[in-house]
Amino acid sequence: MYDAIVVGARCAGSPVAMLLARSGHRVLLVDRATFPSDTPSTHYVQQRGLLLLRKWGLLDRLVETKCAPITHMTISRDDSVISGFADPVDGITEAYAPRRTVLDKLLLDAAVEAGAEVREGYPVREIIVEDGRAVGIRGQYAGGELTEDRASIIIGADGRGSVVATAMEAPFYNVVPAASFIYYSYYSGLNWSFNSRFRGDQQAAGWPTHDGLTLVAIMRRRERFEEFRADPEGSFTEVLRAVVPDLAADLAANGTREERLYSVRYPDNYYRRCHGPGWALVGDAGYHKDPVTGQGISDAFEHAELVAEAVHEGLSGQRPMEEALAAFERHRDEESAAVYKLTCALSELAFPPDVAAVLDALPGNPAARTEFFGLIAGAVKAADFFAPAKVAKLLGSSA
Ligand SMILES: Cc1cc2nc3c(=O)[nH]c(=O)nc-3n(C[C@H](O)[C@H](O)[C@H](O)COP(=O)(O)OP(=O)(O)OC[C@H]3O[C@@H](n4cnc5c(N)ncnc54)[C@H](O)[C@@H]3O)c2cc1C
Repeated sequence: MYDAIVVGARCAGSPVAMLLARSGHRVLLVDRATFPSDTPSTHYVQQRGLLLLRKWGLLDRLVETKCAPITHMTISRDDSVISGFADPVDGITEAYAPRRTVLDKLLLDAAVEAGAEVREGYPVREIIVEDGRAVGIRGQYAGGELTEDRASIIIGADGRGSVVATAMEAPFYNVVPAASFIYYSYYSGLNWSFNSRFRGDQQAAGWPTHDGLTLVAIMRRRERFEEFRADPEGSFTEVLRAVVPDLAADLAANGTREERLYSVRYPDNYYRRCHGPGWALVGDAGYHKDPVTGQGISDAFEHAELVAEAVHEGLSGQRPMEEALAAFERHRDEESAAVYKLTCALSELAFPPDVAAVLDALPGNPAARTEFFGLIAGAVKAADFFAPAKVAKLLGSSA
C-alpha cells in the first residue's frame, strides 16, 4: 500500500512524486515510456518555470546539460516587430528550451533521488474503483502479468489521454476547439535566439536548444493541414519564407535539418474537474491549451507543487483531502483564466483587435515592451498586462 501512486512521469508527474517523497510519503511513480524519451513539444520553459526548478534544486543541473540560454527575443505581427527581453525574474536572466529527453529524465531522476519508487515501461491499464473511490491501479510490463497496487490517492499526471481522468469520468469544461497544427524539426548551422513571428494566419518560430541545434516550427490553421501534408517540406519552406523571409534565407543558406519533420494536429483546449474521491489530476491531464503562449511546462511545474501540497495536507491530516484539492482547482481555474482566454484567441492565428492594437503599440513604448517580455516570461500576469486601464493608457500614449 502506497500513500500516493502517480501515473505519468514527465513535467507534472515527476515533480509531484518528488515533492511528496521529499515530504516523507511512500510514492509509486509509473510511466509507460522508458526514459530518456522524447515527446512532441517545442519545450520552451518560461522563467516562471525555471524559478521552480531553482527552488527544487534542479536548475543548476539543467544549466550543466549545456542547453543554449535564451537572452533575446524577437516577436512580430505582420510588419510590427519588437525585440528585447524580460527584466531579470528574481535573478533569472535567461530562458531555456531543453529537449524533453533531457528535461524529463532530469525530473524523473530527482523523483528517484527523493525516494519515489519508479516503474518505467509500465502502462496502467485500469484504475481500481471501489464504492466510487479510486483505490489503486492495474498495469503490466511488456509481456508481463497484470499487477495491482493500491494507494490512498491516485494522481493522474498522464497527459491528454489520461487513463485516470477517463476512468473517473472527470468532466470537461470551458472546452475551446483546437484551431491549428504544427510542423517542426531541429537544424544545425543556425545562430538564432528566440523568434515567434506571425504574418496573416500563419506563425513561424525558432529557438536554440541542446547540442547546437535550433528548433524551427511552423504553425498554420487546421483547415490547411491536408494541403500542407501533401508536401510537408515544400510547405514548411514556403510558410517560413512568407512569414519571415530573412530567417528562411538563413535556414536555406546555413541550416541542415538533423531530424525528421514532426507534426501535431493540436487537440482541443480544455479544463477538467481535477479531483474526486481518491483521485487527482495534474498537468495536461486536467488542463490543456494550445502551446502558442508556451505555458504548459511551467503550469505543470506550478500545479505539481500545489497538488503535492494539497495531497500532503490530506495525507498528513492537516486538512480534508477533498477540501485541499478543491482549493487547488479553484486557484488553478482563477489564476489561469485570463491567459487561457488569450491563448485560445492566439491559437486561431488571428489576433483579436484589442490584442493587435496593444502589440502594435509596443515598438513605440520601451517600458510596456519590457513588461510584455515579462508576460512571455510568466512573470507578469495576462490579467494585469491586459487590464483595461493599462491598455487604455498604452494605446493613448502611442497615439
Ligand atoms: C507540439 C507541442 C509543442 C509544445 N510546446 C510547448 C512549449 O514550447 N512550452 C511549454 O511550456 N509547453 C509546450 N507544450 C505543452 C507541454 O508539452 C505540455 O503541457 C506538458 O508536456 C504537459 O506535461 P504532463 O506531464 O502533464 O503530460 P505529458 O508530457 O503528456 O506526459 C504524460 C506522461 O504520462 C504517460 N502516460 C500516459 N498514459 C499512461 C498510462 N496509461 N500508463 C502509464 N503512463 C502513461 C505518458 O507516457 C507520458 O510520459 C507543447 C505541446 C505540444 C503538443
